Amino acid sequence: MICDVCNTRVPEGDGARISPERFRQLLNRGWGVHESNITLMAADARVSREQARAMLKAQYLKSQTDWLLCQTCIDEVNQLGTTTPSKAQPSPNQRLTSLDATALSASQFVTKSVLDDFHWQVFGFPGRPKRGAISRVFVSSQRLATEGILKTELAYLALTEIATWAFGASHFPFRDVFVARVLEICLDGFGTPVWPAYGFHSRRDGLGNFRYALLTYGFGSLEDHGRIFLSRTLPSIPKDAHPNWLIGAARLIADQQSMYPHIRASLTEATSRPTYDNDIELADPELLPLIKSVFDDL
Ligand SMILES: [Zn+2]
Repeated sequence: MICDVCNTRVPEGDGARISPERFRQLLNRGWGVHESNITLMAADARVSREQARAMLKAQYLKSQTDWLLCQTCIDEVNQLGTTTPSKAQPSPNQRLTSLDATALSASQFVTKSVLDDFHWQVFGFPGRPKRGAISRVFVSSQRLATEGILKTELAYLALTEIATWAFGASHFPFRDVFVARVLEICLDGFGTPVWPAYGFHSRRDGLGNFRYALLTYGFGSLEDHGRIFLSRTLPSIPKDAHPNWLIGAARLIADQQSMYPHIRASLTEATSRPTYDNDIELADPELLPLIKSVFDDL
């Protein structure tokens, strides 16, 4: 299971659940929107940290479901001088888990895949490039192009892993709408579009690229996806970078420090017990048919 506030893994039997009413009280006392989520939303999107915080808070205030907290978050709540949340335990009339909130958590694999310095370091970069308008003038266009390719491919690979998990998760009957919602969050964020951060020319361009990536990768093993990663990217990468790229792809799919080997297992664990309330409302009517067609084609 994953902490609903800070997204760290919560070992089975650990952590505590708090009610949405209780969580709203904490939000209104200024706790509950984690800095890492603000950073994710504000990193590349054209959104200030204040806007990101306000958007996340608005989203969280609407929650109708329990929040699972990890021990670190419980300690923080306790330091606020409030009563200890009760120990996690399944109750007979357990609340339904919000499918929309689960899609929001899953979408963070896609944003984190791009922001994680380790995913860049394995390809020989010092870390995730942070390019302002000025540095863009002094960096070669080839280098910028290579960075752009890696940035989008990391995101495609993360969405592919989520879609592959959904495709094979027989205990999880919401695969179409779930993946459609994850993709919608990746493109549109909350009120402020995220797609420009990936360097797409338009939202439609971004949608087309994500769809094409899902169809190209298919729903194979992570090793297969590593090979497809190389076949998709190497033709556009300078020859002298190929050795770095081969090592990078291998470590991306095998190194335990990489996020990718953990995505499917995390989703399986996060969905192992909850009973879902399908509360997803897609704003874009095109997305569900698009994802259904991808599942049907593969
Ligand atoms: Zn936490």
